[in-house]
Amino acid sequence: MSCYQSTRNQTINITETEAILQGISKEGGLFVPKELPKMDFELNALLDFNYQTLAYRVIRLFFDNLKEEDLKGCIAHAYDEKFDTPMIAPVKTTQTAHFLELFHGPTLAFKDMALSILPYLMTTSKRYEQEDKEIIILTATSGDTGKAALEGFADVPGTKIIVFFPEEGVSDVQKRQMTTQKGENTLVVGIKGNFDDAQTGVKQIFADQAFEAELAAQGFVFSSANSINIGRLVPQVVYYFYAYGRLAQEGSLQVGEPMNVVVPTGNFGNILAAYYAKCMGLPIGKFICASNKNNVLTDFFEKGIYDRRRDFFVTNSPSMDILISSNLERFLYYMCEGDTTLVTEFMEDLRTKGYYKVTEKMQEKMQLFEAGFADDETTLAMIKKVYEEENYLMDTHTAVAYAVYDSYKTRTKDLTPTVIASTASPYKFTGSVMCALDKKYETQNDFVLLKEMEKLLNNQMPEGIRGIETLPIRHQCVCEVTRMKETIADFLK
Ligand SMILES: *Cc1c(COP(=O)(O)O)cnc(C)c1O
Repeated sequence: MSCYQSTRNQTINITETEAILQGISKEGGLFVPKELPKMDFELNALLDFNYQTLAYRVIRLFFDNLKEEDLKGCIAHAYDEKFDTPMIAPVKTTQTAHFLELFHGPTLAFKDMALSILPYLMTTSKRYEQEDKEIIILTATSGDTGKAALEGFADVPGTKIIVFFPEEGVSDVQKRQMTTQKGENTLVVGIKGNFDDAQTGVKQIFADQAFEAELAAQGFVFSSANSINIGRLVPQVVYYFYAYGRLAQEGSLQVGEPMNVVVPTGNFGNILAAYYAKCMGLPIGKFICASNKNNVLTDFFEKGIYDRRRDFFVTNSPSMDILISSNLERFLYYMCEGDTTLVTEFMEDLRTKGYYKVTEKMQEKMQLFEAGFADDETTLAMIKKVYEEENYLMDTHTAVAYAVYDSYKTRTKDLTPTVIASTASPYKFTGSVMCALDKKYETQNDFVLLKEMEKLLNNQMPEGIRGIETLPIRHQCVCEVTRMKETIADFLK
């Protein structure tokens, strides 16, 4: 039976369905599987599994309390025609890289990979746990999680979803995608602050026991759709196995050989999922953690010190504009071999002093990870270069990863087959992407540029954003960081 414990308290032991429902542990820790499962199929099988079959084979190892038909049902509902290709996560190979395209879902960012299944896992967990309160999904977003979660939870019976995003910190397309969201159970709120403010605010609300009791009396219980929820993380493990199968299939690697991964990183969820895949037995060589100018993780991997006392930058890869990377807590837990006391100290230091330093032993273990960052100019230059030389158009986040990979390759001469997690469609960041190609687009707004991009690529923009500029705006609420709680209470009245 699957068993989950908190990164800050090993005596808290619960099932996966409880962990998915709760989202975050009471004392602020994150749930992790007590033991990471091992893959129970041959690497060769990856050549044959389709995405859904593979998803079942991987997810069941983490969530084995779920009955076979229930989990298969969740998967079938999640990975269906919502995705614009039956491959779900295709790999595109160019002259210089393999791009694992994770943006073929309804909201054009990799968050769909997990958030299309989370609502089904959540309602299934609710049934197993006989939880009859209405679930309130509370989400902080740097732009992409919000829309993907809204899309997943809109009009799902027994749930409501509330999304907080930085009013000034997302792209025009991202903002419009969220503020036009339909669904009677949805609320979208812009906050006067950055993503870290939103995320910290949400975590504080999760920890507020008086508020929790008040809402429980009204028949509500909170949960999270952020990657602090283990139900978000586990479905992301699947596509690293899938990518390996595709590379083997096209002859880019021999089964058994290692594969490197490069991940544009913010909250450390995506790259942690790759680490889980390796622990399960997938031959991953290096993990290359790519950041933008908010390069707190680059410093962390170089020096073993996580220091959030620095300026926050709004960049052209806004989904990675983060200084407090939540899932790093899970990573620390593995690096110190499950020492929950130590993890608690690190998190306490981060909160009170603004930094922590890992032990030497941990730092040694962290050598598996490489890290680098790219500023806005480099990111734009990479978009232009790869488009002109390889006829492949990257979004800004993928371009950050590409830039970091490029300099890693030059530095190390490492020729291991490498997959770049391509986390968003260029259509989602049209302004930055088009201007990278030609400065003449600078005077035009994102919505005009959507049409220009269509012309340039000679294809149709994805279904998910077609006509978005004329959809009615349904959410106009903006609030101060200090008033998040009141905003929630008002909505639930
Ligand atoms: C969320 C996001 C990221 C960062 O992923 P994490 O799991 O938070 O590290 C990168 N790129 C895009 C486009 C995203 O939406």
